[in-house]
Amino acid sequence: MIIIDGSEGEGGGQVLRYACALALLTGQPFKIENIRGGREKPGLMRQHVTAIEAACVIGGAECSGLAVGSNSISFRPGRITPGSYHFAVGTAGSTGLVLQTVLVPLMMADAPSHLVIEGGTHAMAAPPFEFIERTLLPVINRMGPTVSARLVRHGFYPRGGGRIEIDIVPAPLRPVECIERGAAGPVQATAIVAGVPFDIADRELTAARKVLVDWPAEAFAPRQLPADQGPGNALLIEARFDHVTEVMSAFGKLGVPAERLATTAAKRLAGYVASGAFAGPYLQDQLLLPLALARGGVFTAVKISEHSRTAMSLIERFTGTRFRTSTNGDSNLVEVIA
Ligand code: ATP
Repeated sequence: MIIIDGSEGEGGGQVLRYACALALLTGQPFKIENIRGGREKPGLMRQHVTAIEAACVIGGAECSGLAVGSNSISFRPGRITPGSYHFAVGTAGSTGLVLQTVLVPLMMADAPSHLVIEGGTHAMAAPPFEFIERTLLPVINRMGPTVSARLVRHGFYPRGGGRIEIDIVPAPLRPVECIERGAAGPVQATAIVAGVPFDIADRELTAARKVLVDWPAEAFAPRQLPADQGPGNALLIEARFDHVTEVMSAFGKLGVPAERLATTAAKRLAGYVASGAFAGPYLQDQLLLPLALARGGVFTAVKISEHSRTAMSLIERFTGTRFRTSTNGDSNLVEVIA
């Protein structure tokens, strides 16, 4: 039984999700204590419970201690069973983070799966749908599996109600080299509003343009969704390259001026573009598990995140696969040492 202290490293929900995935993939049970011990309100939140339940369902696992607010769970994996599954977070908890828990195990299964996940699709501190579709999945698909994603309905904080559908066709994972981005392609900034004043979109785009000064005017576009998908607002800023696409996001928050959110997201995207790295601040931790299972691969990254460091040490504990990180000036390299 692997014992994990959930307050170590990044100390958030990601440890739980990766531990469940790793347990299913390696057949090793684990116990985690001090769940989300690094957060202001520790313990399981609704979205973590749904993610762990999803892992139990696809992996025939048994889990004790699973309840909102719980600080400790024990997880005993069974056999991964591909199929058609429906998971509902019930709040605006992230659909993308439920997917993060079950995607890699189902990619390694012996038959295809179809997932319907309901909850938030565009909410803080989680991958928005466009990041999953355009940033993460193209790299996963280069590794062998065929994973496609469809956004059926947007879901924003606090109401949720979004829906994504995922098709997964497994294949053996092969290592990939993600060093160069290739030539720069189209850029796009989309401000989405649903059931909130349209001028929020205009204000966000104006603020983003002040940062991304060399982008053409037509790259900035508002998008109004039916009001019943809201209230909600998201800004998605996307830069495409031959080999990778980065999607930086910001989500409307009461009390935070739209201009400030937009300026921060635009600066982050500009920082990514200037860095020359393949993986931005979020893709990096999400690539580690598939690369470890492929037992090889390498990528360049912007500053290595605490999420990445935490994921690396957890993956090492479950699989024995090790990573090497090196820094040369502004450039960081992450390699799997099989
Ligand atoms: P907690 O509430 O404990 O922080 P959590 O489960 O919401 O827990 P984290 O442990 O912080 O979240 O993990 C967040 C995950 O979402 C990480 O894998 C991170 O890379 C990813 N992520 C966060 N923000 C974004 C974003 N804007 N775009 C893409 N991915 C994101």
